[in-house]
Amino acid sequence: MRFASFVHAGRESYGVLTADDRILDLPKADRTLPATLLGFIAGGEASLDRARRLLASPAPADLEPMAAIALQAPIPRPTKNVFCVGRNYLDHVAEGYRERGTETKLPEAPQFFTKPPTAVIGPGAAFAIDPAVSVKIDYEVELALIIGTAGRDIPAERAWEHIFGVTILNDITARDLQRRHDQWFKGKGLDRSCPLGPIVVTKDEIADPDAIELSLTVNGQQRQRGKVGQMIFPIPEIIRSLSAGLTLEPGDIIATGTPSGVGYAMVPPQYLALGDEVVAEISGIGKLVTPIVAYRRG
Ligand code: MG
Repeated sequence: MRFASFVHAGRESYGVLTADDRILDLPKADRTLPATLLGFIAGGEASLDRARRLLASPAPADLEPMAAIALQAPIPRPTKNVFCVGRNYLDHVAEGYRERGTETKLPEAPQFFTKPPTAVIGPGAAFAIDPAVSVKIDYEVELALIIGTAGRDIPAERAWEHIFGVTILNDITARDLQRRHDQWFKGKGLDRSCPLGPIVVTKDEIADPDAIELSLTVNGQQRQRGKVGQMIFPIPEIIRSLSAGLTLEPGDIIATGTPSGVGYAMVPPQYLALGDEVVAEISGIGKLVTPIVAYRRG
């Protein structure tokens, strides 16, 4: 199933997409369901069963055309930071070393960092460049996992049991801040630097995770292209490593790294500029569009 959070007629809700491009408003169809997609996810299999039943015979009054709703990030305000894995695609690690002119050395364990909940924005929402803060804004298309079932010390072979589904995340990065502060949080934590969505696809719709294709364009020009199968640390290993001694909870978001083609490694480097349109695309999920605008000091 395919889920989305949205605003319709001034009301926030969420729903499940139908085959004919409409969305079934779940809390409207069943008032006992949680008010948010985050709450729905925490409801586990019971939530999914109810969504399946409602989707089988939806009441026309609970259906809206996709064109009539404003999509939000699937989880508009996560309850904790978004977990991220850095340097997880071989060709992206290599382009980083090429840019610095040193020999490629692969990470020996996943490199984790986080983005704060205030960074999350939805599909179509803009990232605002503030040149007083950063002049080297870059993009990174990533597959994001949404945790469905809580767990700690999760073995790799049970990792998928804890995943609800997947969505698209653009790990927007201020390269100058990343370098100046000599760690990743500051350069990756700016307001609006975590576009997320447009929808969450449940794991049962993924036949072969390794075959998932990621790509990204800027103003229609292709910059990134890769496959999940190229990850240095595959999804089960990310879950095993992150959950060792750390409890993952329903609604937690884990960005799994980006393939090559980022702007800072281009010759010469090409950073995002006002008026650009960034489109992050993942096969089986869709497109996440982020316009780049100027920050207005309020
Ligand atoms: Mg990244």
